[in-house]
This record gives sequence, C-alpha cells and structure tokens, in this order.
Amino acid sequence: MKRFARLTTLSTLLLAASLTTGAAHAQLAPSAATPAQASAPAEARKANIVIIGTGGTIAGAGAAATNTAAYQSAVVPVDKIIASVPEISKIANVKGEQVFQIGSESFNNERLLKLGKRVSELLKQPDVDGIVITHGTDTIEETSYFLNLTLKSDKPVVVVGSMRPGTALGADGALNLYDAVLVASSPESRGKGTLAVLNDEIHTGRDVTKTNTFKTETFRSPFGPLGYVVEGRTLYFRLPARPHTTQTEWDIDKLDKLPEVAVVYAYGNVNPGAVDAAVKNGAKAIVYAATGNGSVGDYMVEPLKAARAKGVQIVRASRTGSGVVIRNAEQPDDKYDWLVTDDQLPQKARILMALALTKTSDSKELQKILWKY
Ligand code: ASP
Repeated sequence: MKRFARLTTLSTLLLAASLTTGAAHAQLAPSAATPAQASAPAEARKANIVIIGTGGTIAGAGAAATNTAAYQSAVVPVDKIIASVPEISKIANVKGEQVFQIGSESFNNERLLKLGKRVSELLKQPDVDGIVITHGTDTIEETSYFLNLTLKSDKPVVVVGSMRPGTALGADGALNLYDAVLVASSPESRGKGTLAVLNDEIHTGRDVTKTNTFKTETFRSPFGPLGYVVEGRTLYFRLPARPHTTQTEWDIDKLDKLPEVAVVYAYGNVNPGAVDAAVKNGAKAIVYAATGNGSVGDYMVEPLKAARAKGVQIVRASRTGSGVVIRNAEQPDDKYDWLVTDDQLPQKARILMALALTKTSDSKELQKILWKY
C-alpha cells in the first residue's frame, strides 16, 4: 500500500512535470534510470486504454503471405488483433470494442458522428486514460481532423492503421498498434489533440495525410510529424499550433447532423455539371479542389458564381497537396463572396466547412474559421 502510494505520487509528479515542461522529460526520464528502475514505475503506472475497432487493413487478411497489397480489409475482430500483440499487455491495460468493421472509405457523416460520440462517452469515464482507434488508412486524415476539432477532452486519442494486413510478410500493424497504445498511455500525449500513429511517427490529426497507395511510409504532415515512437519511447519534438479539442467551438455530444459539403475536383476540361449536381444534391458548400493556388478556369467561374447566388458557399482549395490558398489572388474572392482554405487539403476543408456551417452562414465568420483551425 505504502509502495503504491509512493509510486502514485511519483507518477503524478512525472505527469505534472511533463505537462509543464513538454518534450524534454520524455527523453530525460528513461535515460536517467537503469532499465530495472525504468520498468518498475512504468508497471505501476499502466494506463487503461480502450481500443476501438473500425476495420481497415489493420483488420485485414490476405490469401498468402506475399499478398501485401491485395487482400480483404476489415475482417479480423479487434479482440483478435489485440491478442495477436501480447506485448501490449505489458505497457497498458487494454479493452477492445468493435464499433464498425468497414473499410475507411465507407466512413460517412453518420458513421463519423457515431464514432465520435462513442469516443466521447468513453473519455468521460474516470477509469479510461486514453483511446486508440484502429482505422483504415484511406480516411484517417478526415476522421482524425474531425475528432481533433470536436472532442472535449485532454486525454490522448490515437488513430492507427496499417498498410499491410497481419497475414503479410513485413506486416506493419502489430508495431503500429503497440506504438499507438504506447502514445495513448503517455502522459505527454495529453492535451495535444487527436493523434495518428503509424510507421514510427506521431502526427497531429490536423495535418496528417496519406500520400502513397501501398508503401508503409505513406503518412506525411506538411510540417513534419510531432514526434517519433522508438524502442518503446514516445518522443515529441513539436506541438500543434492550431486550436483543437477543448479549445474549439464544437462539441461532439451536441452534434447530431452535419451539413452536406461537396468537393468538386478541378482538371483540364472539368465539367461545370459537377457544380450543378452538388447544388441539386443539397450541398451547403462546395470545396473547389482547384489547380495551383486555387485557380479557377474561365469557364468554371460563372457556374461557381451561380451556385453562390443560390446561397451555396464556395471555398477555393488546392489539389497540389500543400500550401496556403491566397485570398483575392487567383480570383476576386471579396467581389464574388467566395472563401479560401488556409492550408487544409480539400478533404480536410470539407470536414471543417461542415462543422463551421453548424455555427454560422456568414461568409466573413466562415473565412475566420477556415483561417483559425
Ligand atoms: N481501404 C483500406 C481502408 O482505408 C485501406 C487501409 O486500411 O489501408 O480501410
């Protein structure tokens, strides 16, 4: 009992120190101790982590070990995935919960809201220290941005996936899941927003994006990851600069429906009918995934202006993959009452606009929101 009390005090001190001084303690604490000293308090501080299964390749299986990219995703139950990585039980007390068993390309607004609400419920439980969500890699960038903007907790939430199924040679899911649990268990992950952990890296849900169809090194953030996970250590080097979770104006518990926001992708000979179809389908905003710095072809200006005249918000974004879109540069946004993204990719701008429209339909306010988050 006495020992437990002493260790609890130590863990509280470590938590307080890490929250006030940031990354330095992550590196100093383990290296200052011998391996035996380091493992004792870690055991005593084992966090309670819920692992929510939603499907994806991390729950996938192939016909042969050489099937690294051709396989069936979303077939292995989350409890079986957890059981396949026994090392996890040494670093945390984990509990699995299957919320979906789908490829992440099948996430829609309803599923996103259902997942977010369940995560929120779990975060409110005092015996839950953090959440890991196993998820298909295709849309981790949308789910993690959405959770980053709507969850109301400082507890770590980590989205994880894999590029190869567990049956494949060189499968990456086991280590990714182990690392995700490690990150979710770390007091240093508190208050950093929703994170994505894959390929030894910790990314902020705001920035992370998938950049390659099959390689394990596919997740990138334009400004680099927040940190690494290596040899059981969580190492942070950066902090997210934009408001997230407890600092935003959205609360997942109060969101029951998201307005329809369409993305229209620009290319040479883009068909203006895509804009009309989005309007007919009830879009309240169109994110125009434009070329370059949000440039709009001469034959697309009128259809977009016509959509705006019908009350649909027009957001100029860029299909280039990075960089900010400059207001009033390629197009006279003030004159047309159009909006521009900051550096959000079109699919992330879609999430932010859907949330923004739950607060206001005033274009000046919407622009402020696009620049803020
Ligand atoms: N299509 C899969 C998904 O996003 C791919 C993956 O998980 O890597 O669910």
